[in-house]
Amino acid sequence: MKKHRDLVSILKAKNLRLTPARRALIQYILDNKSKHISLKEIYEFLGIKVEGVNRSSVYRNIELLKKLDIIQELNLPNKGKCFQYVFDKDVHHFYICKTCGKASRGNKELFEKIEKALKDIHGFSKANLSMVFYGFCEKCKGH
Ligand SMILES: [Zn+2]
Repeated sequence: MKKHRDLVSILKAKNLRLTPARRALIQYILDNKSKHISLKEIYEFLGIKVEGVNRSSVYRNIELLKKLDIIQELNLPNKGKCFQYVFDKDVHHFYICKTCGKASRGNKELFEKIEKALKDIHGFSKANLSMVFYGFCEKCKGH
């Protein structure tokens, strides 16, 4: 479980306490790395696993993981607010179809173009591109 340790060490480096709820949340996110996890799923999971967890503390922990760039928030048309693991992934941007809700990860090529444009236009470098684009996919654009 190297990854869990990596994330735990980030919390420790920031002097954040590793509460049972945080530990469980991190493990849950790692176990569902490739999924878009909804708030409801997180509440349900933590409600079962950890005693005495309330919604506002879960929400605070999610906000914390967002700030640490461990997860990214997405708003999926069919599912609502979701979270996706992004830590140690190069590309943090997604494009989401407003009609069918299909979420795709942006590729490296797009990332590099945006990075270059940021530098050329704003003189801004080493940006952490954590972005979500909403639009219409190939299949839905004609409807
Ligand atoms: Zn679509």
